[in-house]
Amino acid sequence: METEEIVHKLEAKGIKPTSNRILVMKTLVNEQNPLSLKDLEQKMVSMDKSSIFRTLTLFLEHDAVHAFEDGRGILNYEVCEEEGECDHHDGHIHFYCESCHRSFCMEDIHIPSFELPEGFYPHSVSFVIKGECPECRKRLR
Ligand SMILES: [Zn+2]
Ligand SMILES: [Zn+2]
Repeated sequence: METEEIVHKLEAKGIKPTSNRILVMKTLVNEQNPLSLKDLEQKMVSMDKSSIFRTLTLFLEHDAVHAFEDGRGILNYEVCEEEGECDHHDGHIHFYCESCHRSFCMEDIHIPSFELPEGFYPHSVSFVIKGECPECRKRLR
């Protein structure tokens, strides 16, 4: 994705596109799998961990990214596909590979919508299946 598109994406979410924010979003967008803070840190050597974390927190507040816990209980971040406001109906199942520790989006398998009792407001929903990804299965057999 081009920088111009990233800027547009951020603005559509009500986020002022600073160079750091563009960089973090670009890294997430260009990655096929969801990333943890540590993954991002390793990919973005030019930015320190606390700046990346601050940026991610801001993204979360604006629904520009979604977060879920992977098989280790570590938060993974992925880009929200919706333009502008997100109604959280795009929730899907994730698969966590216990061999290579990557998370995969199962975009076609939706998390069923559920009604919470009154007064409860969800911030994140984690639905993770653990196992082996196709690559690891091939490698380990
Ligand atoms: Zn794997
Ligand atoms: Zn996903």
